[in-house]
Amino acid sequence: MKIGFIGLGNMGGPMAANLVKAGHEVTGFDLVTAPPEGAARAASAAEAAKGADVVITMLPNGAILQAVAAEVIPAMKSGAVLCDCSTVDVESARAVAEKAASAGLGALDAPVSGGIGGAAAGTLTFMVGGADAAFATVKPLFDIMGQKAVHCGDAGAGQAAKICNNMILGVTMIATCEAFALADKLGLDRQKMFDVVSTSSGYSWSMNAYCPAPGVGPQSPSDNGYKPGFAAELMLKDLRLSQQAAEAADADTPMGQLAAELYTRFVEHENGKGMDFSAMLPRFEQRSRG
Ligand code: NAD
Repeated sequence: MKIGFIGLGNMGGPMAANLVKAGHEVTGFDLVTAPPEGAARAASAAEAAKGADVVITMLPNGAILQAVAAEVIPAMKSGAVLCDCSTVDVESARAVAEKAASAGLGALDAPVSGGIGGAAAGTLTFMVGGADAAFATVKPLFDIMGQKAVHCGDAGAGQAAKICNNMILGVTMIATCEAFALADKLGLDRQKMFDVVSTSSGYSWSMNAYCPAPGVGPQSPSDNGYKPGFAAELMLKDLRLSQQAAEAADADTPMGQLAAELYTRFVEHENGKGMDFSAMLPRFEQRSRG
């Protein structure tokens, strides 16, 4: 397949490399980064999109996505599919899908989970919104870049799934960290706490797979000085998107709102920037109720 790939950063670079390795003809464009070996380099986003069967974007946010989409949609050939894998707001995803449809193109919002490691290993999970036909066209590429692609519904459904998942993740990570800090103050050994909770009703991915307490549970960023992993500022981005969506949809999300507030403080005022999002545990350790 002929693929245009726009946004070749930490995630997009290795994703594009996996498509090249699988034998696809990839033309890449990024404002800063060069395409991976074996991919052609375009001079602009429009040039990368020209003649492609599928154009994949992996960009920082919805405003940039909308600007790039405005440039590439007129350059794409009729019937091609624009597939955005960035994490962006639901409204931007829907606006891009509408513009693509009115230009006779397919469109998918297909954000990912699995991080930089998953992008390199080709084991991402894609959550996808858009029409069946567009999903069927891009599915073979999802199978190269990832291990699972869930077709969640119409345009915007992929982003909705992503921000709901990460809202749960942010809330449960905070709950897990504050529970460890309370356990410390109650004199409960952290390993015992893990042994009980990981097999009891308080279990979660945050506790069982990504334990924020160093030396407890499987290997995680807490065992590596809280080097990300999944950086606190990326969690904050996703929590803010969840609150933007909740506001637009008039949904009551008090836990998500509080999680967004706590990660804002952590990133902006408590040295959390550049730390893994599980570094909320040392943050809670240092605090009392006051
Ligand atoms: P990144 O900053 O490493 O990469 C973004 C790339 O986009 C950069 O190389 C930048 O130069 C390029 N870019 C920006 N504006 C551009 C433009 N107008 N035209 C062409 N290129 C442009 O970010 P990343 O970590 O690769 O994340 C990309 C997306 O994936 C984000 O939406 C992020 O939220 C999401 N995501 C990241 C992770 C992760 O662990 N890093 C996990 C899941 C989802």
